[in-house]
Amino acid sequence: MTGIHRSIVILTGAGISAESGLATFRGAGGLWMGHRVEDVATPEAFARQPEMVHAFYNARRRQLADSAIAPNAAHEALVRLEDGWAGDFLLVTQNVDDLHERAGSKRIVHMHGELRRARCTTCDRGFAWLDDLGTDTACPHCARTGSLRPDIVWFGEMPMDLERIHRALQGCDLFISIGTSGLVYPAAGFVEAAPAARTVEINLEPTSRRSMFDEHRTGPAGTLVPALVHELLQA
Ligand code: NAD
Repeated sequence: MTGIHRSIVILTGAGISAESGLATFRGAGGLWMGHRVEDVATPEAFARQPEMVHAFYNARRRQLADSAIAPNAAHEALVRLEDGWAGDFLLVTQNVDDLHERAGSKRIVHMHGELRRARCTTCDRGFAWLDDLGTDTACPHCARTGSLRPDIVWFGEMPMDLERIHRALQGCDLFISIGTSGLVYPAAGFVEAAPAARTVEINLEPTSRRSMFDEHRTGPAGTLVPALVHELLQA
């Protein structure tokens, strides 16, 4: 890595949490934990089979409480970068886990929502939620039952904080994409939304967005991210 950078935007995907024991989205056969996306991650699926969708996210939420699940060296390195960086910094994650926060990240946007939050479709409030959700769970604010949902952006819904993300991308001079397949939009298009940036992709394998990046580093995030952060902080 050469040159002095002032403003960094980092995009992370499921791959950064893989070494922490959380399955990525498209494992073998294109399934997420054995489920088709259309069955668990769309508003239509939730309307059709709310108990099934709740059960899927309840299982994901419970997994986060497993003592074996913890941030890895890549999450920790990004905290060192945020703390040691004099310029602008924004971490944009597609992940719904909370491993970045547990490592200590502060300037972070969860563009696809968070497993440990729920939202009421009646009173439209969002709030921290650590327990299971069901169709009979009452909203703690308006007391209505049957209107809580995971605070997750499903396919076909608008990602969160896009305006803030695009402002940061427009002004950044370094964009780093870590552990994301580049198949889910709009995140896959962020590399093109940062016209002034040097762009770096870190992934276990070449992705379909590979040709859009200036630089590629191929290997596990747990090794490559700490090395890149070291280089950036030295420079
Ligand atoms: P994806 O599963 O489509 O892609 C994961 C990418 O990570 C792949 O390109 C893979 O090669 C790479 N990868 C795997 N292990 C890696 C490692 N150790 N080091 C570096 N790279 C590695 O994930 P995505 O692009 O983030 O898109 C999937 C969607 O699924 C997201 O919107 C996200 O909300 C959701 N999701 C989130 C989680 C989570 O929060 N941990 C887990 C699964 C899915």
